[in-house]
Amino acid sequence: MAVLSTREKLAILSDAAKYDASCASSGAGGRDSLKSGGIGSTEGMGICHSYAPDGRCISLLKILLTNFCIYDCSYCINRSSSNVRRARFTVDEVVRLTMDFYKRNYIEGLFLSSGVIRSPDETMTEMVEVVRRLRLDEKFGGYIHLKTIPEASAELVEKAGLYADRLSINVELPTDEGVKRLAPEKRPETIRVSMAKLRSKIEEKAEPTLRTKTRERFAPGGQSTQMIVGADATPDAGILKTSARLYGSYQLRRVYYSAFSPIPDASSALPLRKPPLMREHRLYQADWLMRFYGFDQSEILDGQPDGMLDLEIDPKLAWALRNRASFPLDVNRADKEMLLRIPGFGTRAVERIIETRRFKRLRLEDVGRLCQSIAKVRPFIVADGWSPGATTDAARLRETIAPKPRQLELL
Ligand code: SF4
Repeated sequence: MAVLSTREKLAILSDAAKYDASCASSGAGGRDSLKSGGIGSTEGMGICHSYAPDGRCISLLKILLTNFCIYDCSYCINRSSSNVRRARFTVDEVVRLTMDFYKRNYIEGLFLSSGVIRSPDETMTEMVEVVRRLRLDEKFGGYIHLKTIPEASAELVEKAGLYADRLSINVELPTDEGVKRLAPEKRPETIRVSMAKLRSKIEEKAEPTLRTKTRERFAPGGQSTQMIVGADATPDAGILKTSARLYGSYQLRRVYYSAFSPIPDASSALPLRKPPLMREHRLYQADWLMRFYGFDQSEILDGQPDGMLDLEIDPKLAWALRNRASFPLDVNRADKEMLLRIPGFGTRAVERIIETRRFKRLRLEDVGRLCQSIAKVRPFIVADGWSPGATTDAARLRETIAPKPRQLELL
């Protein structure tokens, strides 16, 4: 096999990592000071953007340790039977690359995942060594997100938590049947046990020790997971049910949804086309409703016979249109829980409304100043001097407030 340079490996292993959505990109604009003679760039191979636990948008070096893999998950470009160019970094190369990029101000952190080489423990040992060396030898203070191998030993995962800010374990697919069919070497029970152990460890380390009365630093960014959407037939209702269970059982910080991408020489068990990108977007919106807007997973798609989110309108508007009997709501009296259900109100707008109405009664124009789109809100609220009358129940309400369809993808 040809010997690859570090640069060639970087090209292969950063490209291979792009399918992982669990270090979500932000919409940050690019910075490239090469032309101006300064230092620092957010562009270039392997660099993506993500949000740190404190909400800052940061640039990460996003790479795999290797794209060799002994497993053969049908949906994965790096599966053992795939005919892709392979590469493998040494521990030393990942440490040097991270430090070089960091010192040049290209990145603020590292996202490291890997195919499984020889055994889960051997792979995990190398990944832990990367983060140990970065933290202890190089005194690297940047953000580290480590994708752990579920079958690796609990001791190795525990070590990883000492050095990484966030750990994640992919559940891969929304149902156990899907995992068994498309990733037969993976065991959903093992993935769940790993998540449960990680949750316990995070909680245990969050408590001050009896002796020193201090907390040991352990994965302060918590744990997250990723689910592939559209590789099997699970409807959105099933996906959200799985997410709700994951949030509840394992205290995850995030579930990431990654739209399935067709891969070369794919198995006939996989669909030929990728799902619409809008489906992934709607799932994120629905996930947001569960985490920040007090919606139960079962309500988001109640009365939707196919169990799929509406691609044309956001899930909160879809819910309000199906539950018109709950509206209009009086913005001067409704409690926070109900205000959060009004289409067009974000958490910030609701806070500002509650704050403002402590000292004055709100008119429609006041509400307009506190939210982004009064046109969307108007049919669902009552304010001083404003009532929507029959608009809330109008048959054409959806057409009047739904955004005009736009083409997201060419094909
Ligand atoms: S274990 Fe990970 S890298 Fe290997 S084939 Fe499965 S999804 Fe791909």
